Amino acid sequence: MPTAVATRSAESGRPLAPAFDAVDRPDREGILDCVHCGLCLPSCPTYLTTGLEMASPRGRIHLMRAVDEGQAGISADFVKHLDQCLGCLACQTACPSGVPYGYLLEAARTQIERRYERPAGDRRLRRVILSLFPHPERLAWLLVALSWYQRLGLSGVVRNTGLLALLSPRLAQMEALLPEVPSAAARRPLPGVTPAVGQRLGRVGFLTGCVQRFVLPDLNRATARVLAAAGYEVVSPQGQGCCGALHLHSGDLETGRALARRTIQAFERAQVDLVAVNAAGCGAAMKEYGHLLRDDAEWRSRAEAFRARVRDISQILAGVSWRQELKPVPVTVTYHEACHLAHAQRIRKEPRLILQRIPDLQLVELPESDLCCGSAGVYNLLQTEMAGRLLQRKIDRIRETGASVVAIGNVGCLLQIGLGLRQAKLPVRTVHPVELVDWSLHGMPDGEPRA
Ligand code: SF4
Ligand code: SF4
Repeated sequence: MPTAVATRSAESGRPLAPAFDAVDRPDREGILDCVHCGLCLPSCPTYLTTGLEMASPRGRIHLMRAVDEGQAGISADFVKHLDQCLGCLACQTACPSGVPYGYLLEAARTQIERRYERPAGDRRLRRVILSLFPHPERLAWLLVALSWYQRLGLSGVVRNTGLLALLSPRLAQMEALLPEVPSAAARRPLPGVTPAVGQRLGRVGFLTGCVQRFVLPDLNRATARVLAAAGYEVVSPQGQGCCGALHLHSGDLETGRALARRTIQAFERAQVDLVAVNAAGCGAAMKEYGHLLRDDAEWRSRAEAFRARVRDISQILAGVSWRQELKPVPVTVTYHEACHLAHAQRIRKEPRLILQRIPDLQLVELPESDLCCGSAGVYNLLQTEMAGRLLQRKIDRIRETGASVVAIGNVGCLLQIGLGLRQAKLPVRTVHPVELVDWSLHGMPDGEPRA
């Protein structure tokens, strides 16, 4: 006998939204591919942390199936369990049945954002965060204000008194994540074209990103220098902005699609052979543009052609024969695998390969290297408690390695793990692998710790 469809949430009494509608609906076959074997459970960070079935991939797929079949509605409980998912895709890597968990999650979140009414505070915070990223000019102004906030010493006052944490743990988390804002000179844009050193191998378009170009500008400069040294002409196309990854992961597929089209157009105009990305989350999203725009007759083939050109920076550098001698970098490095490299893009060996080629660099493996650090796009701003527990676990593992440097191929993880190391007062430096290659090619910056 079919089960009656619930019309009100059992826990809050609020009316339930009916089951998924047809627009961006989670694929039923994908849901049914799950055979409930549970092989993904040991790799799921939220399941490992809570031990709860509903915080596991299997539990979340079960919830999606119930809503898909009209046995349940989009309830506060449903939203809570999907919100708590990091989107790290460790379950997708582990699943022997090929369940497309990432696509299911994206679609389920889109249904939530269109059809479920979040509490007002939650809605406002999400709107503020997502309205900042596609607009570099807004981020630039925010950075100017924040740099004055830090220079006037207000940051120290806020952190020492703990006042902000009392008012809003989420705002306190945002404030704490912020590294020292780079100077205006450091934040100046990259040149439109950086010429290749020596004979040109090809023309690479470089995604400068919406956050890292302001917050970690040295990383972008190092990336351009290293690509040029490898023989690539590096183009930073005008008109590129946010790649849309944060919107895609947050249930705003329409804005994600608009940002994808803008990104494709910017790189088409630049006429590049490859598109280089130094942020794992952005690279993973851009490699999915073909799927994202599959129903758009005008853009489908352009998205496919673009997707085929996208490379994580480690994929490019792993195949380079260096024309100049690599100099020793005598440091002990451990490597954290960003989820969107290891799981979404299945890139594991290339970053290690480029580090192993650096003379005198000692690479020590990080236990649980591919377990999420809690960053996960804007997850650490929205799910502060779970993000904090995962960060603590990551910092404990890093401490065990005894490394003085942790190499990380994603901007969000660089900020998140940097925060954890500062809070733990561990003398460990966070860098992107490409920065270590840059040190080897062009010399270590003054003051960098050796060994
Ligand atoms: S994406 Fe990550 S957090 Fe979400 S269910 Fe899969 S393994 Fe768990
Ligand atoms: S998602 Fe895959 S691994 Fe996890 S329970 Fe379902 S079939 Fe098994």
